[in-house]
Amino acid sequence: MYRKASIRWIKKETRDTATYCLKLKEKLLFLPGQFNMLYVPGIGEAPLSISSSPSAPELLHTVRVAGDVTTALSQLGEGDIIFLRGPFGSGWPMEELRDRTLVVIAGGLGIAPLRPVLKEVMKKDYGLSSKPVVLYGSKSPKDIIFRDEFPRFRDVFDVYLSVDKADPEMIWRGETGFVPDVLDRVDFAPLKSVAFICGPEIMMKISVSKLLGRGVPPEKIYLSMERNMNCGRGLCGHCMFGPFFICKDGPVLRYSDIRDFIDVREL
Ligand SMILES: Cc1cc2nc3c(=O)[nH]c(=O)nc-3n(C[C@H](O)[C@H](O)[C@H](O)COP(=O)(O)OP(=O)(O)OC[C@H]3O[C@@H](n4cnc5c(N)ncnc54)[C@H](O)[C@@H]3O)c2cc1C
Repeated sequence: MYRKASIRWIKKETRDTATYCLKLKEKLLFLPGQFNMLYVPGIGEAPLSISSSPSAPELLHTVRVAGDVTTALSQLGEGDIIFLRGPFGSGWPMEELRDRTLVVIAGGLGIAPLRPVLKEVMKKDYGLSSKPVVLYGSKSPKDIIFRDEFPRFRDVFDVYLSVDKADPEMIWRGETGFVPDVLDRVDFAPLKSVAFICGPEIMMKISVSKLLGRGVPPEKIYLSMERNMNCGRGLCGHCMFGPFFICKDGPVLRYSDIRDFIDVREL
């Protein structure tokens, strides 16, 4: 079933990415990490993660221009109408946070489905055993999404921002290098941690390999996977990943469940 949504506001995040606040007739109930299929009339639909927290009044999607649907979305303005169906898929297992240290690892746009986790942890007591950690890597300082929110994230999380390459035009006080390399310099208790990871697949694989090397149990590592998808309900088979449908069983999957299909040993 499609719901009608009007665009309440749009915030430009980077040169190719913007956050869209959508207004629906009724509040959408969802879990952190779930996604909607957004349909731009006359163009088509695309799976897009929900970047707002379930307890926030607004519904947000943070979208990078990639192809037809996302380009069409980028040409819309406040008050324009789109349609959505969802929410779909699995969410981040927030119940796993009790008595553990949360290690959030995000690369590029991978921060979008993790923002609801950060916002929830800032708002509610999840019984974490120590200060949670966020590692977020972007290509350059100009590509940092939710840039203005990081000062507030730092109130609650130990934040490690990194860029692949510093930009000579911008002052950069964070780390330079790939996110998984920054992980080597982060202090956390591996056996007591739970890791939530989203980003380019190579970055996720290397991060998993490093976490396993540090002693984080495979069943305490969760990844948000991305595959082309159509139906969103595990019917069409477009997004099959081993025995799993990314749209229905994922996008958030436990590493120990998928280790036979995502080989981190080849790295
Ligand atoms: C569960 C899930 C959650 C997701 N969440 C988000 C999210 O929160 N935000 C987000 O931005 N994306 C997200 N994506 C990715 C998004 O769904 C895809 O990028 C989607 O294909 C965009 O739809 P589209 O019609 O704009 O692009 P498509 O037309 O489907 O294009 C897809 C691919 O083709 C390439 N491509 C298309 N046109 C061109 C061109 N002219 N030149 C070169 N390359 C081209 C693009 O680089 C892209 O890799 C998510 C995907 C999944 C599966």
